Amino acid sequence: MEALDRRSFLITTGAVAAAAASAPSSVAAQAPAAVFLSTWEWGVAANRRAAEVVAGGGSLLDAIEKGINVVEDDPNVTSVGYGGLPNAQGEVELDAGIMDGATHRAGSVCNLHKIKNPISVARLVMEKTRHTTLAGDGALQFAIAMGFTPMQLLTPKSLEAWLKWRSSPNRESFWIDREHHDTIGMVGVDGRGQVVAGCSTSGLAWKIPGRVADSPLVGCGYYADAAAGAASATGNGDVMSNYCTSMRIVTRMGQGLHPQEACDEVMGVMAKTAPNVRSDMYCVIAIDPRGEIGAASMNVAQPLQYALWKNGQGALHTAAPFLH
Ligand code: ASP
Repeated sequence: MEALDRRSFLITTGAVAAAAASAPSSVAAQAPAAVFLSTWEWGVAANRRAAEVVAGGGSLLDAIEKGINVVEDDPNVTSVGYGGLPNAQGEVELDAGIMDGATHRAGSVCNLHKIKNPISVARLVMEKTRHTTLAGDGALQFAIAMGFTPMQLLTPKSLEAWLKWRSSPNRESFWIDREHHDTIGMVGVDGRGQVVAGCSTSGLAWKIPGRVADSPLVGCGYYADAAAGAASATGNGDVMSNYCTSMRIVTRMGQGLHPQEACDEVMGVMAKTAPNVRSDMYCVIAIDPRGEIGAASMNVAQPLQYALWKNGQGALHTAAPFLH
């Protein structure tokens, strides 16, 4: 993620974190068992919204969707939804996926243009069709049929960033630019047996149009199994998708590993063969049905920040780097 953007998010989410800390205890009283775990600073606001949804009687699927919507709607988050940095042709191209751990159903969209809430479209793919994934124009047409309104997703800020990149004679291409990306990955349990995972991203800035990485792929960017838990991933999705990170983690939790052990184990597997493990971002989060959590990343210079909502309280944490 771009350094400037990260600083501005820290300012934004500092206020959100303070608001979360002073939240009325009624939310805690109404939904004491729900636990939400999300990636990066913006996860604080996503978790807070999710907790409100559950406290208001919504399902865990509602909570994860609405929580992710908060980040998709935020123009200051330049790697998710509205305001996300575009592909090489200047088009914002979004990916998202969601999985219901109780039914083992998932829905996702890839390369979706002009719709700011891809996680909501993904959920409708899961609930209204017999498909799992819709891509490109088919995904857009489906979204329109479901009542979504197409809009311009470039903001003045993201347009300016793209114009600057495009006009630079020595610009880094999609082959080597590893800086401009991030994802809202979110997992949650409701304490009543339901487990859900979801994620949403604009992917790698300046990517080749049509690029699909881990975020919309079941088992890669997200995975949920009510018997074992849920996981999500953020980082270099071109590489991470080759390790099916989220499914690996959930499978190992199902075999008895604590979420932290399962996250560390997948980092260890990747450390053996993934490129640039000290400089690239490779990050995962996980939760088990009891609400125990894990979080891991390998880049010591840019460790994963994750937001946890538990016992009615929200806080932002930094994952201890996985040492390899
Ligand atoms: N995994 C996302 C992608 O490669 C980006 C990120 O999470 O940083 O599209």
